[in-house]
Amino acid sequence: MAGYQAPKGTHDVLPRESARWSELIARFATLASRAGYGLVVSPMFEDAAVFRRGAGESSDVVSKEMYELEDKGGRKLALRPEGTASIVRAFVEHRPPVPWKVWYATPAFRYERAQAGRYRQHHQLGVEAIGVEDPDADVEVIALLVEHLRGLGLGRLELRVNSMGDANCLPAYRERLAAFLAAHEPALCDEHRPFAGRPGWRANPLRFLDCKRPECRALKPLAPRISESLCEPCAKHHARVIEGLDALGVGWVADDTLVRGFDYYTRTTFEVSALSLDAAQDVVGGGGRYNGLSETLGGPPAPGVGFGSGIERVLLACDAEQLLPAPDRLVDVFVVDLVGGDAARDLAHQLRQAGISCDRSFDDRSMKAQLRQADRSGALVALIVGGEERSSGTVALRPLRRAGGPRQSAVPRDGVLARTAELLVELSGGLAGEQTGEPAGDLPDTLGTGS
Ligand SMILES: [Zn+2]
Ligand SMILES: [Zn+2]
Repeated sequence: MAGYQAPKGTHDVLPRESARWSELIARFATLASRAGYGLVVSPMFEDAAVFRRGAGESSDVVSKEMYELEDKGGRKLALRPEGTASIVRAFVEHRPPVPWKVWYATPAFRYERAQAGRYRQHHQLGVEAIGVEDPDADVEVIALLVEHLRGLGLGRLELRVNSMGDANCLPAYRERLAAFLAAHEPALCDEHRPFAGRPGWRANPLRFLDCKRPECRALKPLAPRISESLCEPCAKHHARVIEGLDALGVGWVADDTLVRGFDYYTRTTFEVSALSLDAAQDVVGGGGRYNGLSETLGGPPAPGVGFGSGIERVLLACDAEQLLPAPDRLVDVFVVDLVGGDAARDLAHQLRQAGISCDRSFDDRSMKAQLRQADRSGALVALIVGGEERSSGTVALRPLRRAGGPRQSAVPRDGVLARTAELLVELSGGLAGEQTGEPAGDLPDTLGTGS
């Protein structure tokens, strides 16, 4: 039989590509914890009602794309389609002191049409700040997203910002929009024109604003504008957000059709697009404020704001700008042992204990096979032990992958660690600029080059 394959719409992330993932997540963790956000880990599935009530029945994600299942106990569960609702559920359950500032890294599941760049299991990084009304929290969260993306070196970014109003002013806007849509029904797209019992736009008039189909897009300039419907407190909140972004030098553009796909948003919504990607799939992060979500899920009033950023999408944007390359090497040192494996076993262990990344061969392979493996590992140095070295109590240090550099030398067994460490500094120092291609700046070197 043919071997099994991953389910349609999913993908495996393997070395070395996976090193980009750990780098991306490590950088994000550093930024988030620097701003006072702690890691939260919560279940990948929840009572389906958390998402139905939270993200909203009318959202595409809930109505069409959610993975729902019934467990053996008859519980109606759903795999998390997005990050926020489950984090707010955790807040409602544990009632931590506010503000509760957390970050997460999680898979998210959506039954989407399988196509390039869209996955049924994708992965998100995000933050939530819960229990804060202050517009400066919106600014903090937006700045964090932008810093995350800029920190990767991404240059062609566009931040779009909007306010959707709140329970006070949004209903009136919704009514004006509904009146407009009712008057223009024949011109709406297939999805939004009510038809044969399907509700179309009536399911949620706001969905018209983020409709990407040409019919609806053409109508948008004529539709009533949400920015002109904000009540005074919403307008004040929004002005303070804009003031904050300007103060921090975060460039933005206004987009009052930005309503995002979930029903829980109030006031601030934002998205960042990577202009190097196809316009249909260029959003590399987005979020907003969700002031009523805690109550919707049975909790106390606790306004909040947050964002999610798709890892796959961000890496695509990095590819487009040739950033965050997969590392050239998995380890710095490779031990080649031609005399039975004791040296490989012991030396590899000692090097690792000394903090030097190191690998070795198994199964008594030939010199040629071991050197080939050393080369594949990307190691800078091979430590070779053959019959001669064993009898003289030495190890041969052979610098790999550098023409014109230091040549192979024999080192007494008890001096190997020190000499290897020196050699690595020499070699990786000279290589850093040519090989990593990292943007200038003091970025953390978490891929571990031993330098
Ligand atoms: Zn439409
Ligand atoms: Zn308002």
